[in-house]
Amino acid sequence: MKCLLCEKINLKIICNACDNSIKITPKKRIDFDDFAIYSFFDYQSVEYLLKSKYSLIGSRIYKILARKAYLHFKNEVHSNFNDIDIYGIGIDDKVSKFYSHSGIIVKEFSKIFKPLFGALIANNDIHYAGKSLEYRQNNKKGFIYKGKNDITAVLLDDIITTGLSIKEAREKLLEHNVNVLFALTLSDARF
Ligand SMILES: [Zn+2]
Repeated sequence: MKCLLCEKINLKIICNACDNSIKITPKKRIDFDDFAIYSFFDYQSVEYLLKSKYSLIGSRIYKILARKAYLHFKNEVHSNFNDIDIYGIGIDDKVSKFYSHSGIIVKEFSKIFKPLFGALIANNDIHYAGKSLEYRQNNKKGFIYKGKNDITAVLLDDIITTGLSIKEAREKLLEHNVNVLFALTLSDARF
């Protein structure tokens, strides 16, 4: 096959040289009552890759990005909170277009955060991509939570734009007495 980025003939979907060129650029956004959202990749650099999520190949690309994010997190951040049970909850973790976008991220982080697959699902099938802030505010996702109550958790998602999905997800989890420490996203589209 060809490397998706440089088109050189190669055994992997992204060749080693291109894989190494995808750099982690950690960013932190503070939103909504001092809630921290961390991201790993510069949006412009990975926008092309993130758009693959609507194709079958997307699951393999998402896995590569999530794995890189996980390794960075494990090596640079994780040691600060080793001692408590923290669950990983993907935002709208359901299969759509062949696989679950956030579920792949939950899986890659499962060595650190106990995975609660498919626990938080949007009841309204609304897609925010390309929509205005007003549209997003007027059309909530209506999350349903089917995971455990009274736990500590981290939210995981692929892209943050306005942050409204994360805000709504967090509010739903608070109803179930889930203490959400922070959110991790692959990339922050605002930067
Ligand atoms: Zn390449």
